[in-house]
Amino acid sequence: RADIAMHYCKLKGRHNILFYTEQMDLFYNQIISLEGDLRKALSRNELSLHYQPKVNVATGFISGMEALVRWEHPERGTISPAEFIPVAEETGLISQVDDWVMHEACRQNQQWIDQGYAPERVAVNVSANEIQRNDFAEKVHQVLLATQMEPQYLEIEVTENSVMQNTEECIRTMQDLKAMGVSLAIDDFGTGYSSLSYLRQFPIHFLKIDQDFIKDVLKDPSDAEIVKAMIQLGEAFKLEVIAEGVEREDVLDFLKENDCAYYQGYHFSKPLAPDDMEKLLTRKQTYLNQMKNPGEQ
Ligand code: C2E
Ligand code: MG
Ligand code: MG
Ligand code: MG
Repeated sequence: RADIAMHYCKLKGRHNILFYTEQMDLFYNQIISLEGDLRKALSRNELSLHYQPKVNVATGFISGMEALVRWEHPERGTISPAEFIPVAEETGLISQVDDWVMHEACRQNQQWIDQGYAPERVAVNVSANEIQRNDFAEKVHQVLLATQMEPQYLEIEVTENSVMQNTEECIRTMQDLKAMGVSLAIDDFGTGYSSLSYLRQFPIHFLKIDQDFIKDVLKDPSDAEIVKAMIQLGEAFKLEVIAEGVEREDVLDFLKENDCAYYQGYHFSKPLAPDDMEKLLTRKQTYLNQMKNPGEQ
C-alpha cells in the first residue's frame, strides 16, 4: 500500500507531502478508484488506440506506426497512459490492458492491409511484467493467429529496464519472437541502466532515443554529443535508430546531418485516431500508385 502511494506521489511530483498519512490515504483511494474504473473500462470499451507515424528521416516517408493507448473515462475525460499504466502495473491489470492493445493494434493493422494500403509495421509497447512472462512469445503467436497478421508487421517496444530484470529469460523470449519474425525495439533508450555488453546480447532491431535527449539537442551540446554517440552505437551494433519527440524542423535537420534512420514526433504528426491515420495511409497509397502509373490520375 505504501509502495503504491509512493509511486503515485512521485507521478504527481508531490514528494514533499508524502509523509502525511491523510495525503497517503487520499492517493491510495484515488488509486483504488482508478483500479476499479480501469477494470470496468476494459469491459466497457473505454480504451482506444491512437497511432503515431514513424518516419524515414532521409525520404520523409512513413515507415510504420506506434500504437498508444488512450482511456476515455466517463467522468474524468481522457486519462493519459502516463497516469494509468503505472496503476495498471501495480495492480496487475496491465496484463489485460497490454493483451487488449496488442490484439486491437494487430486487428486494425491487418484491416488496413486487407483494404490495400501498403503494409506498415505496427509497434506496441509492452510492460516489464509482460515481457518477463515465460508464455509471452506464445501469447504473441496466438494474437497473430487470431488476427491473421504476418509477424513481420509487428514490432514490440520494451524499455531497457524491463529487460534488465530476469535478463536471461527475457533474452530467450526475445529470441523466440525474433525467430517468429517479430521485430524488437528498445524504447526510451538512454534513460535506463542497461550495459553495452547486454545491449549486444539483445536480439533487437531498433533503438529509440528517448525524447529527453532530442528535445534540447540544439541547445545543449552534451545532449548533441550523446545523440551522435547513440547513432554511432546503432551503426556499430547494426541497429536502426529512431529519434523520439521531434518537434521542430531544425531538430530534424540535425538528425539528417547525423544519419539517424527514423523519427517520430509532433513535427510530422501527433498520435492520431484511427480515421486520421487512415487518411495519412490513403495519401501515401495515392502517391505510390502515381509512382507506379505516372500520368494516371
Ligand atoms: P513511449 O512509448 O515512449 O511513447 C512516446 C510518448 O511521447 C507518447 O506519449 C507520445 O504521445 C509522446 N510524443 C510523441 N511525439 C512527441 C513529441 O514530439 N513531443 C512530446 N512532448 N511528446 C511526444 P503517451 O501516448 O502519453 O504515452 C506515454 C507512455 O505510456 C509511452 O511512452 C509508453 O511508455 C506508455 N504507453 C502508452 N501506450 C501503452 C500501451 O499500450 N501499453 C503499455 N504498457 N504502455 C503504454
Ligand atoms: Mg513506445
Ligand atoms: Mg519512448
Ligand atoms: Mg517515454
